[in-house]
Amino acid sequence: MSTQADSGTVEQLGEWKQTRYIDLRRKLLGLKVKDSYLPVLDEHIRQVAERFAQSNFVLQFEDVFPDQALFCELFSEANGIVSEQIPDSRAENPQPSLIKKAANAWYRYSSMSDIAQKIGISWEALSLCLKNAFHPILVRYSEKLSPLVKQDSWRQRVCPVCGGKPDFSFLDREAGARWLICSRCDTEWLFLRLECPFCGNQDQDSLAYLTDGKELYRLYTCEQCRIYVKAIDLRRTEGEVLFPLERILTLDLDRQAHEAGYQPGW
Ligand SMILES: [Zn+2]
Ligand SMILES: [Zn+2]
Repeated sequence: MSTQADSGTVEQLGEWKQTRYIDLRRKLLGLKVKDSYLPVLDEHIRQVAERFAQSNFVLQFEDVFPDQALFCELFSEANGIVSEQIPDSRAENPQPSLIKKAANAWYRYSSMSDIAQKIGISWEALSLCLKNAFHPILVRYSEKLSPLVKQDSWRQRVCPVCGGKPDFSFLDREAGARWLICSRCDTEWLFLRLECPFCGNQDQDSLAYLTDGKELYRLYTCEQCRIYVKAIDLRRTEGEVLFPLERILTLDLDRQAHEAGYQPGW
């Protein structure tokens, strides 16, 4: 996936009935790295890509945080959008060092409760702002680095570019192989169909999937960790599929999963 997929999704969402949720997602997906920052960011990515090409490694926080001012600006824009719709989620001019600390904790999947308290918003709102501030930066990394991933030898449960967890997947058109999609940078990677991408469970009796009448979408579930991941079967689609849009189109699957007692894994 790419910045083009994000732009295509923003365009399509613009034509939908503007519920609060759609409006929020459309505005957040519209966040972009300013043109004036692109040369700095691209030079940083070029240097990282050189190392990445030699030995695929999961990027660390220091690799993806090239410029504090760039990140703080995106964070502030994300917070502006989020605070329009979520009460009490406006961060009142947090120190850049605090934002960096929060970004570091988020990237490492560490607890953010203490930092959220210092910033004065809930950790859920903070996490949403950080995820969306990071998104345009990480997608740019993914565009350059994901073509370098050795797909045949990766097969791990985390994203080969940023180490993020998957929040969507697809079965490919050629052989129905399952690919996971990173919740943070949209990188796609090949993964076993008969293994839970969260706990590694391979016991077929405790892995299952539900599907809709048209068998276009699937909800993969695991009884061991009670986590689910959504999928689209590309063998049943025609034309281009925008995964950022599919995430939103399949909200009803999330609802069904929650009602059945499963949690998202990211
Ligand atoms: Zn990723
Ligand atoms: Zn599991």
